Amino acid sequence: MAFRFFAVPSHRLVDYPQSLPVDERLEPDLPPVPEAVERALTGTEFRDMRARDRLRALLHGDRTPTLGAPEAGFGPSAVFAQPPQDLPALLRLADELDGLARREAGERALVWKCGDCGARYAVPVALVRQVSIRCERCGTPVELNATRSLGEEALIDPFQGAVNHSRRELAAFFREAMARGWPVLVSEDPRAPATPGPSA
Ligand SMILES: [Zn+2]
Repeated sequence: MAFRFFAVPSHRLVDYPQSLPVDERLEPDLPPVPEAVERALTGTEFRDMRARDRLRALLHGDRTPTLGAPEAGFGPSAVFAQPPQDLPALLRLADELDGLARREAGERALVWKCGDCGARYAVPVALVRQVSIRCERCGTPVELNATRSLGEEALIDPFQGAVNHSRRELAAFFREAMARGWPVLVSEDPRAPATPGPSA
């Protein structure tokens, strides 16, 4: 199930089948991989309920959502969080998301590039030794000297990267919506591409 989160000012809420305004709106920049967004929310809670269960209950529970669609072609939206009463719970959720993103940020690695062919070499920080290797592609010596690395990066697979990006985007979006006093809405995304996540 793919979710679409967004926020608009309370005074601009309209009922379905109208669409909610786009000129005044906050929306997180989420990757077009619904599985990554779902995974981003896994393990988080909102008001003593698992966040994903709350989303399902809101969109597929006994009461059908009634608020306007995020855009034409979408179903109705429901209020996920309403300031000010949901402010503490939403800020806690944002903290949880940031914490998960940090915890699963992946091992840090130092990165070098072959000066000739540009092949990349990433070595986990703990394993870095000052040695010279021969580039696997072109044979040019590459000096694995920490002071000459291109910098640090996380050794992380693209799916996990998308999950962590979603977590940070959602956390920032939740905080900004609450700072503005706008309700956070959610709608089911009917255009969810059938992009399979890794089978891990
Ligand atoms: Zn090379």
